[in-house]
Amino acid sequence: MIYKNEQINSKTFKEEVYKSINDYFKENHFSKHANHQMYIKLLIGFTWWILSFILLFTVSTTKLGFFGVYTFHLFSQLFIMLNISHDANHNSIFKNKKLNHWLSYTFDLCGVNSYMWRELHHAQHHYCINISGEDENLVARGLFRFTKKAKFKFFHKFQHIYFFILYGLFSADYVLAKDFECFFLPYTIYLKEKKHPIMEYIKLFLFKFCYIGYMILLPVFYLHYSFVFIIGIFFICHFMIGIIGGTVIQITHPLRANEFPESKKEYDNFVFHVFATTSDYSEKSTIANWFFGGLHLHVIHHLSPAICHTHYAVLTERIKLVAEKHKVQYKSNRTLFAAVKEHYYHLKNLSKNNIKVKYSE
Ligand SMILES: [Zn+2]
Repeated sequence: MIYKNEQINSKTFKEEVYKSINDYFKENHFSKHANHQMYIKLLIGFTWWILSFILLFTVSTTKLGFFGVYTFHLFSQLFIMLNISHDANHNSIFKNKKLNHWLSYTFDLCGVNSYMWRELHHAQHHYCINISGEDENLVARGLFRFTKKAKFKFFHKFQHIYFFILYGLFSADYVLAKDFECFFLPYTIYLKEKKHPIMEYIKLFLFKFCYIGYMILLPVFYLHYSFVFIIGIFFICHFMIGIIGGTVIQITHPLRANEFPESKKEYDNFVFHVFATTSDYSEKSTIANWFFGGLHLHVIHHLSPAICHTHYAVLTERIKLVAEKHKVQYKSNRTLFAAVKEHYYHLKNLSKNNIKVKYSE
């Protein structure tokens, strides 16, 4: 395994990776937190959300027009979640933790419980990437077999076909079911053992009520649209942002080229674990850089999640040089489509029971 190659001095590699990251900020006298690009993103996100919200409830239009504005508003939520909420929950936008904490509620504004997000994403994904039974991203209600270790079920035979449809349900599931399930019907050992503060239960119901209130109840009772119509467009719009959000998130880890360790001990240190289990994509894409919240530059995100994502592009170039020097493989797919293809083949390989998965073509 290249990540344990004796020729690599693992301690030196780790130190050099972090030195190259820290030197960038020292040399340029930059802060690790928001730069001008991030301030522009904050402005875009909040302006988009507020304007589309006002349009939704003030401009009278046809049903089709309302559907258009509703979709426009849902996409502001996707933009906020990917570009603002994720960073805020990692304390990376501002130096001041309280400001980040306030911004972390943007998740709740978009229907996702920020407290539970931190429990799942930070404690059960960031430091146990691709480990079956520990990484929450690999659970997916048992509908997918992401690792060889995962139990095979007959419907996994078609997982490379249905994944796109099910990723579309990811967003509505998160908003309407998953958060409640995590609080009341915990399905991982970590969640079962975790005692949540009473205040978090109150916030869960309060924020969910606000979200359902402004996305479903207000259009029905204030604008007098039929309940069926509003429910219909709610699910259609969530399906659209679910496909995009689910795909953007999933195409960095469960890929043919990545490793799926049995435990954290398989690597000499965490830096090797990240390089072995994570792939970037669309590194040079302007669209990805503006809309995907740095999730496409995922190696650096796992190495330093407390750095604001608008620094990732330049930091990725730096860590690539260190990896090259130490002959550690840095993995990246040139385009989003190429990454989706890798994800597809990974799912296809694991759609057969007890097969020997080949990780190269
Ligand atoms: Zn993260």
